[in-house]
Amino acid sequence: MKTLFILQRYKSVDFFALAIKHIIWSIILYLCKIENQLKEVILVIGASGQVGSELVTALRKIYGETNVIASDIHSVNPKVRDHSTIIHSENVEAEGPYIELNALDKNKIYDVIKKNKITQIYLLAAMLSAKSEENVELAWRLNTLSLSNILQLAEQKLIKKLFWPSSIAVFGHTTPKILTPQYTIMEPNTVYGISKLAGERWCEYYNKKYNVDVRSIRYPGLIGWRTDPGGGTTDYAVKIFHKAILHEKYESFLNEDTALPMMYMPDAIRATIELMETQQENVKIRSSYNLAGISFTPKQIATEISKHIPNFEISYKPDFRQEIANSWPSSIDDKNAQYDWGWRLEYNLEKITSDMIKNLEERYIVTT
Ligand code: NAD
Repeated sequence: MKTLFILQRYKSVDFFALAIKHIIWSIILYLCKIENQLKEVILVIGASGQVGSELVTALRKIYGETNVIASDIHSVNPKVRDHSTIIHSENVEAEGPYIELNALDKNKIYDVIKKNKITQIYLLAAMLSAKSEENVELAWRLNTLSLSNILQLAEQKLIKKLFWPSSIAVFGHTTPKILTPQYTIMEPNTVYGISKLAGERWCEYYNKKYNVDVRSIRYPGLIGWRTDPGGGTTDYAVKIFHKAILHEKYESFLNEDTALPMMYMPDAIRATIELMETQQENVKIRSSYNLAGISFTPKQIATEISKHIPNFEISYKPDFRQEIANSWPSSIDDKNAQYDWGWRLEYNLEKITSDMIKNLEERYIVTT
């Protein structure tokens, strides 16, 4: 009886200690959040795209709605106009500040930084791989000049930190295809890849020469359900889900056995914010970090989808994007990101597939 009483007492003491610990942690987290909100004002350029729409939402959760300014070339967020793609409460304009801003307009960016006391910029405006091949001059101009504008403003110490994404497109036919290392042969043969490689060299240059705190990730192909993809070679891995949900046949523009590195958007957003929030001294690579994601082929993703939608059908009709894909790695080695800032992937193909299908099913019910 006495033993039972002592045990019960210990149990309640344990519970009490745990509750106090929980309360202290909540207060610390709350204070950190307030501190972050007080210190940082973030500008996202190219915020209406596939990455920006989700990144802005995530940043606003951390830094507060009014401290994250979304901007894009459009006078209004296009998602507001096109009702077929409205995603309730998740469009970047509806939640907080949004401004029309051309990534090539250096003077206006300067004014926005000054007026709003911007401390960090996420530069996402770009033309993606497939679209770039259709408009080579504009792609080169947009992808390179937008970055050099912001690097020059950062050199003047107008902002504290810059994030700019690179891509697996920086690799080429002469790069080792399997477990592509961080440092390797890089001879891209697409305008997108060339512009991203040039951008990486500029980032490292401005960091070494002017101490600009620029941070970058070589994103693999990104998969998300909230927005449509923006014209890349890995877009098939998003479009395939939409067709499957609508019980339509999907015609893949890549061969069935084309393995490419991919990443689910929640992982990509988390990686981006983790890299931006890590201490400066942890960021050892100032060109751009390899991130592996998960590698799979169109056939493998179709098989995974069939486990949820058994009548799903796929056919293959490679187009010009097959040639681009052929020049990219099949898998990536990201141990530098793991060592330097503790990167860990969460979503494998199985988890991506079930999450995409669950969310898209809900989205199509909402929008039809
Ligand atoms: P996206 O095409 O979906 O979005 C780009 C956004 O930039 C669009 O909203 C567009 O309106 C905007 N934009 C275009 N020109 C502009 C200009 N002059 N000024 C301001 N905004 C302009 O692209 P995304 O998928 O969101 O990609 C974001 C970044 O991530 C890009 O740098 C891209 O190269 C990189 N990336 C993306 C992927 C991917 O799979 N999505 C993979 C690797 C790298």
